[in-house]
Amino acid sequence: MAPPLVLIVEDNEVNLKLERDVLQFHGFRTIEARTAAEGIALAAEQLPDVVLMDIRLPDMDGVEALSCLRQDPRTAGIPVVAATAYSMQEDRERFQRAGFDGYLAKPLDIRAFPNEVRSYCRSAASEERAAEV
Ligand code: MN
Repeated sequence: MAPPLVLIVEDNEVNLKLERDVLQFHGFRTIEARTAAEGIALAAEQLPDVVLMDIRLPDMDGVEALSCLRQDPRTAGIPVVAATAYSMQEDRERFQRAGFDGYLAKPLDIRAFPNEVRSYCRSAASEERAAEV
């Protein structure tokens, strides 16, 4: 079974490199986009197992990008996790209401990050189901 494919949508090069390096070190495959539009197009083309979505992106808000993904039947079922420095309780609630599958606060907890990402992956869920049988 192929390792999970993670789409990182992040416009900050330092954050992008950190996320990519940590995920690749832990065996994930990664693809990346620096704008929401690029991320939406890449998601439809590559069908990743999970999308890590920054909220402040140059072309649109990550919440708006999420709704674009949900409106396209090809990408509607892909788990999308908000990765953001907006970490107040009201922010978390806003992301939950918007329909994100999860939330990762920046700065990321690098030790917990790979397992958190894995827990949101579509393939991880199906592997767990397969293991239970
Ligand atoms: Mn950003």
